Amino acid sequence: MKKTVTTLADGRELIYYDSADDIVRDAVDPRPLDAVSTSSEIRRDPLLGDSVAIASHRQGRTYHPPADECPLCPSREGRRSEIPDTDYDVVVFENRFPSLAGDSGRCEVVCFTSDHDVSFAGLTEEQAGLVLEAWTDRTADLAELPQVAQVFCFENRGAEIGVTLGHPHGQIYGYPFVTPRTEQMFRSMESHRAETGRNLFDDVVARELADGERVVLEGEHWVAFVPYAAHWPYEVHLHPRRRVPDLRELDEAARTEFPQIYLELLRRFDRIFGPGEPPTPYISAWHQAPFRAPGREEFALHLELFTIRRTPGKLKFLAGSESGMNVFINDVPPEAAAQRLREVASE
Ligand SMILES: [Zn+2]
Repeated sequence: MKKTVTTLADGRELIYYDSADDIVRDAVDPRPLDAVSTSSEIRRDPLLGDSVAIASHRQGRTYHPPADECPLCPSREGRRSEIPDTDYDVVVFENRFPSLAGDSGRCEVVCFTSDHDVSFAGLTEEQAGLVLEAWTDRTADLAELPQVAQVFCFENRGAEIGVTLGHPHGQIYGYPFVTPRTEQMFRSMESHRAETGRNLFDDVVARELADGERVVLEGEHWVAFVPYAAHWPYEVHLHPRRRVPDLRELDEAARTEFPQIYLELLRRFDRIFGPGEPPTPYISAWHQAPFRAPGREEFALHLELFTIRRTPGKLKFLAGSESGMNVFINDVPPEAAAQRLREVASE
């Protein structure tokens, strides 16, 4: 893997990740861009104790541009995009419309491929492996920033999820605080340790493997299951068998196997609702330990993949109980979801 760090016309950082070690990335961004002005502000909710990023500058962001104006496609003569070069493998750059910026963290965009019309599930194993390298490298780099407490690599896929650009891409948020869900997991982890003397994540994975009913896919180094209390109609948690706190600690064997397992999961997701249905909208979310949290070694890196579609043409909305009270109601039993995800295995 070759990494080339450059800057865009407005000073934002852009990083190429290439599989070929001899590639030269020296294209210059000639666009007359104004410096990015962001007014991101983190406000603490006194009742819930959580934080809200107020980012009014995002109202002007690019919204469903036509394919020939895609800002994530490589540049070509007469059409300058966010990526100065005329081709790339994987590229990461600072978001021009960040939810978090400056002292309030950092937001990056990850373009998985230069091909506008493919989705992550359509990448080769080599391409998916390069994306994993990029996620890992970004996690390592952002760990060095004092304002970043936790790194979240994720992909929103599909207009139903609110994706405003069709090009296959994901995002990386460097939060200036530990997120509420992670804090919650730490609390559960600590009380489980106090009660049983064991690691919560180890016990959860062991229970799923012993039970077997919700296991979707097992590799030599990874295991994927629908959690016992899944919140979403189709939700899969993917864990490396050897528990590690974040992407940096994955060993070579787990890295090598990851593309195969993850691509298979994504392809099965697209088949859940049968042929003729549009691609399944999903959110794919990496959970990693915060950098400076006590007990971080106890945390288990894992990926949570879920869709908001519950049946063909019908979405699960976060309505009164979910949005008002944070109590999820799931119409699809986790065992049935796992059964379906096993049925649609590819040959
Ligand atoms: Zn594009």
